[in-house]
Amino acid sequence: MARYTGPVCRLCRREGGKLYLKGEKCYSPKCVFEHRPDTPGQRSRFRRKPTEYGTQLREKQKARRIYGILERQFRNYYRRASRARGITGEVLLQLLERRLDNVVFRMGFGSSRSEARQLVRHGHFTVNDRRVNIPSFQVRDGDVVAVHPASRDVPRLKELAGLAAQRGVPEWLEVNHEEMKGRVLRLPRREEIDVPVQEHLIIELYSR
Ligand code: SF4
Repeated sequence: MARYTGPVCRLCRREGGKLYLKGEKCYSPKCVFEHRPDTPGQRSRFRRKPTEYGTQLREKQKARRIYGILERQFRNYYRRASRARGITGEVLLQLLERRLDNVVFRMGFGSSRSEARQLVRHGHFTVNDRRVNIPSFQVRDGDVVAVHPASRDVPRLKELAGLAAQRGVPEWLEVNHEEMKGRVLRLPRREEIDVPVQEHLIIELYSR
């Protein structure tokens, strides 16, 4: 499965804000953006004011990078959102939030979405008691997401469960960290999705 494998802190510098792609490091003084917030590249100082298109493009890139998705798959999410009922931008963010790797991250079983994605890929999670190792799997309301019984003694998962209990969980999820499982209570509302993205700019970009 294709994914970005380059330096991730560079992506924060490119988007001009912290995207929290590296887990614990993002909350520590070691965060690269804290001491190098400039745009990467030798001629970054000479860049002109962004155009309307440029602003929309950057917003789309930011969303893509936060969720770790490549262009084609992101466009497919947009297509699905534009066909669905409701506000397209909000539906788009809901589709992204419903990805299994994101839900695992939101439950606290991953210090970042990329770690959660790797844990899913390695088959450490079940959905409704069936092992699922597809990070893009879309959860539905009522689904039960749990650490696979064979993985409950994995040291990193135990450590994450301990940390997750202190981290807090969004209201649309219910998690029992001791039992290493959680339930999707409902789909998230826009105000519950704390990603710094103006989704209307993404919709305007794809509607051109
Ligand atoms: Fe971005 Fe995290 Fe790197 Fe800081 S440490 S620049 S927030 S990925």
